[in-house]
Amino acid sequence: MKYENIYYGCPHCGKSSRTSKIDELIAQDEPALKTAILDGEFFDCSCEHCYEVSQVEYSFYYIDKDQGVTIYLYAGKNDGNQEPFSDIYEEGKIYRMVGSLDELREKILIFDAGLNDKIVEAVKMLMVYRYNTEHDDKAVQSIFFKKATDEALQFNMSFTDDTYTEAIAPMGLYGEALMTNPYKLNYREVKGDYIIDNQWIRETVIINRMVNEGRLPRTEQ
Ligand SMILES: [Zn+2]
Repeated sequence: MKYENIYYGCPHCGKSSRTSKIDELIAQDEPALKTAILDGEFFDCSCEHCYEVSQVEYSFYYIDKDQGVTIYLYAGKNDGNQEPFSDIYEEGKIYRMVGSLDELREKILIFDAGLNDKIVEAVKMLMVYRYNTEHDDKAVQSIFFKKATDEALQFNMSFTDDTYTEAIAPMGLYGEALMTNPYKLNYREVKGDYIIDNQWIRETVIINRMVNEGRLPRTEQ
């Protein structure tokens, strides 16, 4: 892990303050930093002058050596690193790209729970669809995995009217998706398929449906 000093303009007092950033965070070596991610405080910096806390975001790698998982968090849409895994890619390991601390936190929680994030995205899509068809007054804005118990997957769901709730999916839904694979997902890792999010699941489902209906040629994976 490499530390580097960076300077940022404090939004509270306007002065330049110093903080340190890291290139890669190995979860097994830095449990306190992993906890800071899970608590949503990883990017919090205290100003050297006024001590006010603000968020200073930057790109870094989160690595779980035991699970063979590497997640690249890109801060901002154009951090210039389009191929973050080209030098480190190894067959059989899991690589993901996320665009926010919330998304990184969710991936860590999913992998730590021993779940497949592609199936979790499918379950999330079903939950959103079900909620939006049953309710006219508001729509789901975001849904994040929270935790798994023996019986259920728990999610935090937020709505267009700024309210939120906890949503529960029975574990059977996950097991069924795993067994029957209704959306014809490729549960194996595919080189280049690094962003597994709600857009990925929607596009995958639409493309697979078009293939099944003969409107797109079938490709071997
Ligand atoms: Zn300040």
